[in-house]
Amino acid sequence: MTAPSILWLRRDLRLSDQAALVAAAAAGPVIPVFILDDDTPKHRRMGAASRWWLHHSLASLDASLHEKRSRLILRRGKCEEQLALIAAETGARSVHCLRHYEPWWRNAEKAVAKQLDLQCHDGNYLLPPGSLTTGGGTPYKIYTPFWRALKEHMPPPSPSNRPREIAAPDKWPASDMLADWNLLPTKPDWATGFTAQWEPGEAGARKRIAAFADEAADYDRCRNLPSQEGSSRLSPHLHFGEVSPATIWQRTADAGGSVDVFLGEIGWRDYAQNIILQFPDYGGRSARAAFDVDLPWRSGSAADADLAAWQQGRTGYPIVDAGMRQLWATGWMHNRVRMIAASFLIKHLLLDWRLGEQWFWDTLVDADYASNAVNWQWVAGSGVDSNMFPRIMAPLTQSEKFDAAAYIHQWVPELAELTEPAIHDPESFGQRPRSYPAKIIGHREARERALAAYDVMKAHG
Ligand code: FAD
Repeated sequence: MTAPSILWLRRDLRLSDQAALVAAAAAGPVIPVFILDDDTPKHRRMGAASRWWLHHSLASLDASLHEKRSRLILRRGKCEEQLALIAAETGARSVHCLRHYEPWWRNAEKAVAKQLDLQCHDGNYLLPPGSLTTGGGTPYKIYTPFWRALKEHMPPPSPSNRPREIAAPDKWPASDMLADWNLLPTKPDWATGFTAQWEPGEAGARKRIAAFADEAADYDRCRNLPSQEGSSRLSPHLHFGEVSPATIWQRTADAGGSVDVFLGEIGWRDYAQNIILQFPDYGGRSARAAFDVDLPWRSGSAADADLAAWQQGRTGYPIVDAGMRQLWATGWMHNRVRMIAASFLIKHLLLDWRLGEQWFWDTLVDADYASNAVNWQWVAGSGVDSNMFPRIMAPLTQSEKFDAAAYIHQWVPELAELTEPAIHDPESFGQRPRSYPAKIIGHREARERALAAYDVMKAHG
């Protein structure tokens, strides 16, 4: 019998448009494997919300594989070690995978390739990250020219169907039990709100696309309004690779209206991967080094208390608090509110952007090393693109402008009785209920403090 191939799955938990699966299935029997690596140094441990998602996504993938008389093998440990053990156990000759660009995955790919015949395929991005270069031959650093260049290569190749058959090996290697990985929270179970909101897995992703395809034409009008479901909410499905961007493109590109704006957001996802390919430590180090060295970020007990208030949604700024509570309850936050909440942490509270990046990493179901770091550094102004630090968002004005009253009512029940305009700024209207905290800092005072800190950094430079 033909030797089996290993299908090494990571953030590509799907059967459709899965180039690694297509190649492995064409070669003979397939052993689908997922390895949880929590212990390798520099391998970023998944956050708690991501672990919740992962559990359900793996269960869903295993069920889909069973429909094809296959199964998912679960292992824990270093990828290269586990894959070598499985190869020795089963006589597998090669390993197929989709390429991933987080620094730890690139290291793992190198380590596996030293021991086994590793065949890497593309397909988790519109174009393979790193493949686009400027006229001068260097990788793009700025989104707009990057997107302009990427669009020249669109549409992406048509997505492939799931293989009709996935041949099983003669002998299955041993597998862990998913439940033993303890990916789900128990005491307390903080994820009940997640279950109501999400259906992890390929079928859930398909339903989301179907629901969104009808709305895509109106995307630009609705996407900035947190009170409406104006965006696709595909981010966790995309992060875990339950759907390919090519499939999304195929399903939405003809929607007309402002669908190009939506496709441009999918382009942001590609852009972020291109950035971490150039700057692997982007999640922990400012591209403008002065932000890490010279900017007087606050620290100490008052700063710690402010960080906790932000995390718990108790800052006294309703739009910020609504966003942080939505995040805690559902593992997701509206993009406009992410920008407002991130700006508030960095500028109003003068807390290092990396504290926010870490909180999002732990609490978002779509936590993505590249997208998270790129967006945090963009808001901070510390990144490779334009320096936004001196542009300080006014959260209360943003709340009014983007019509956030219903959103605040939903997530901040203490303010349920308030109407416009007091709902956006209860304190200034003398309508703050006793149960709702006072502002932890006034807007003007915060703005002056942030700009003074910025001047200190500039003076050092
Ligand atoms: P839609 O508006 O429907 O967009 C479609 C898809 O495009 C998204 O699913 C996502 O994959 C991609 N996308 C959209 N906006 C961006 C963007 N600005 N950058 C990169 N990709 C984008 N997104 C993540 O996927 N993971 C993160 O960890 C993450 N952290 C963020 C942190 C901050 C501080 C900010 C401001 C934004 C962050 N984003 C992150 C980007 C964005 O907020 C989410 O992708 C978006 O809100 C997801 O909702 P959606 O699927 O409805 O998006």
